[in-house]
Amino acid sequence: MTTYDLIIKNGKIVTAESTVQGDIAIKDGKIQEVGQSLEGTADRVIDAEGLHVLPGLIDTHVHFNEPGRTEWEGLETGSRSLAAGGVTTFFDMPLNSTPPTINKKNLDLKKACADEKSIVNPRYWGGLVPENIADLKELHENGVIGFKAFMSPSGIADFNHVDDETIFKGMKEIASLGSRLAVHAESTVICDQLAEEKQKQGKTTARDFVESRPIISEIEAVRRIISYAEATGCKVHVVHASSRKVVEVIRAAQERGVDITVETCAHYLALTVKDLEEKGGLAKCCPPLRDEDEVEDLWAAVANGEINVIASDHSPAPASMKTITDNYFEGWGGISGAQSTLNVMLTEGYFKRNLPLEKIVALTATNPAKLFELDGKGTIAKGYDADITLVNLEESFELKNEDLFYRHQHSPYVGMTFKGKVKSTIVAGEVVFENGEITASKKVNA
Ligand SMILES: [Zn+2]
Repeated sequence: MTTYDLIIKNGKIVTAESTVQGDIAIKDGKIQEVGQSLEGTADRVIDAEGLHVLPGLIDTHVHFNEPGRTEWEGLETGSRSLAAGGVTTFFDMPLNSTPPTINKKNLDLKKACADEKSIVNPRYWGGLVPENIADLKELHENGVIGFKAFMSPSGIADFNHVDDETIFKGMKEIASLGSRLAVHAESTVICDQLAEEKQKQGKTTARDFVESRPIISEIEAVRRIISYAEATGCKVHVVHASSRKVVEVIRAAQERGVDITVETCAHYLALTVKDLEEKGGLAKCCPPLRDEDEVEDLWAAVANGEINVIASDHSPAPASMKTITDNYFEGWGGISGAQSTLNVMLTEGYFKRNLPLEKIVALTATNPAKLFELDGKGTIAKGYDADITLVNLEESFELKNEDLFYRHQHSPYVGMTFKGKVKSTIVAGEVVFENGEITASKKVNA
């Protein structure tokens, strides 16, 4: 009889294709068998009767800010929050760590921090900034999953946004490497001039801020990047599209054969301008939250398979930087949300809008693994990495500040009632989170 490290018994195993009751046998960090009534013994057996068993989520967009800005977050707290949210792999953005990930030396610094502190699997974006085109090749050779550029100011002094000339040059280089460019697509011209007009007129409400970063600003930047993609052959990934109108432009390019993909974030699917008005800085982000009709349209795009990936764009900051009294142009833009992506997708998607569980798995695990070529990740099958999350769909809870594992325990999702609770998270066969507690063997501060 075979001896395994772990057997998960009788769960409803969800993949992008189907949901099937069964067992999963794990040894040496890998899934050895999936099937009904598996034979064999194990050091530990988890009875998953009544639970759904999902591939661990892959969050393609987080800012953990380490090294250098750990007063905002950090790899220990950030990775713990992911484990609590059922996420087993993350892609850390090249900013807002200091130094930013724009050359090999800085990448090595971040890797060392993650090796020491992260309890889930790290992957890294490289940055494309005006100063580092000569460094892209070496970053690529050292395993970055792609490059990130800002088409409008990033808000961070050591990560410059790219002018058109730089982005075009960078795209030629990235195309020659066979890598992919992720873009924060908002128009500097439109956003800067509208913001200036508003502030000159003393118009600084939440609505004014939103109107200063209109959907057309995203569309303008996306159209430009599509033209550059067609001219350079560079593969493009548009991050945090806030509206289906942006997605439609991307779809049209895809139909012409452009290799362009699109991410949206949980907050554009769960929150509206009303939340920004009520919750202030906690709900401020760029592009900003949109109105309810836009949220419904975006769900329609999700249901229709028009979106490739759903991520958190977790971009935390201390409460002091999130306080807005009356001027919404002040205060850090960034949502703390990495722990809640699956909760949002289950509550707002599966329960409220009948989005199939298989689609949620595709958007949060299978598609990102395929798109960014993560071997052995993104599904539950024999030979794949044992990165798994167990969820009780019958359990509801109201999110409280003290439930959050972030360095700063705040989030615009606090106070929301979610249906579907993460019970256990397993990374490479190790249970790293269980029943509300971090159980990973890797201890940093303990
Ligand atoms: Zn971001």
